[in-house]
Amino acid sequence: MSVTPTLDEADLLLRRQDPELAELLLGELTRQSTSLQLIAAENFTSPAVLAALGSPLANKYAEGYPGARHHGGCEIVDVAERLAVDRAKALFGAAHANVQSHSGSSAVLAAYAALLRPGDTVLALGLPYGGHLTHGSPANFSGRWFDFIGYGVDAESGLVDHDQVRALARAHRPKAIVCGSISYPRHLDYAAFREIADETGAYLIADAAHPIGLVAGGAAPNPVPYADVVCATTHKVLRGPRGGMLLCASPELAERLDRAVFPFTQGGAQMHTIAAKAVAFGEAATPAFAAYAHQVVANAGVLAAGLADQGLAVTTGGTDTHLIAADPAPLGVEGRVARGRLAAAGIVLDCCALPHGDARGLRLGTAAVTTQGMGAPEMARIAVLLAAVVRGEAQVGRVRDEVRELTGRFPPYPR
Ligand SMILES: *Cc1c(COP(=O)(O)O)cnc(C)c1O
Repeated sequence: MSVTPTLDEADLLLRRQDPELAELLLGELTRQSTSLQLIAAENFTSPAVLAALGSPLANKYAEGYPGARHHGGCEIVDVAERLAVDRAKALFGAAHANVQSHSGSSAVLAAYAALLRPGDTVLALGLPYGGHLTHGSPANFSGRWFDFIGYGVDAESGLVDHDQVRALARAHRPKAIVCGSISYPRHLDYAAFREIADETGAYLIADAAHPIGLVAGGAAPNPVPYADVVCATTHKVLRGPRGGMLLCASPELAERLDRAVFPFTQGGAQMHTIAAKAVAFGEAATPAFAAYAHQVVANAGVLAAGLADQGLAVTTGGTDTHLIAADPAPLGVEGRVARGRLAAAGIVLDCCALPHGDARGLRLGTAAVTTQGMGAPEMARIAVLLAAVVRGEAQVGRVRDEVRELTGRFPPYPR
């Protein structure tokens, strides 16, 4: 196996020049391809995306925007960034796209910078219910610089309670309402959020970091027509390079958003990443990607049903997306313990907050395994294996072997 799945010459060079690092890259590639990647935020980018990331565009300084750079020699990267912007606008039906955000968190920071002043009140899903760090964590700039009010989910159904959102918006008159989550497995009702924002005079910010790839494939509702600003990542279901982006439907906010990214919160754009984003947007516009996005959701449905059959308490009773949150407590095991047992068996996933109490749940996603070509039969089998490992019933070595056999049949980078 080579160190990188794409660039054979670079690969050879790296092995010769820095065998120590080459060994690490090879080790990570082996880890990724021989264990089960169920981390909801991860995926396998295509060789074409990896090629753009490893290209000489990594050498280029390009502060500013196409046609208005602070550096010389930008004529080619300008075209690459325009291509990425045009493809993002077409893919999501947005009037404006900014593709420079270095990460999802940087995109959220820029959205706040564009719309808010320090001290403003913001209403967002509370962290115990699946809000992201940037939605008001005291450890994050958001919690330090803004006054966050958290809404929750209905205790019975686990679903967003729009009546509570409306009541909190009326009571606190936030400058912005944020909808989006790291673990909420259902589609959000963007129209309902828009209505509440309009009624209370708030901006609506959709943090669609997770579902944006499903949106690209037509497998989830598009927040762009409803939100003033949509923040997103490009590396989750969307399967592009690690990075962020901002979208908006109205051209009025375009300039404010651009200035909030550069020069307010970032310096030079990462042109190799922007080129890789363009590649990913191109891939995401194909019928093959739409089929992929629908398969991701179908797989998550099978996996969620399988986990429920095995006795795990699946939040909201299932999923509309790639994402599943489940409490292993009915199996007599706490989330962190379950994650450790699964890791030993080669099943890699995260813990997540659960709405009630301090116990942690398990968060899984099907984006990566679906990229590998796995389908319903594999999801059903994974549910059985996972529950057996969590219960402590399975022989870890035997499950590890089965995981190796499974991932061997579905290599992420077939040769
Ligand atoms: C992943 C995620 C982010 C942050 O993305 P990073 O690239 O890790 O900074 C922000 N918001 C939500 C809802 C996310 O799921």
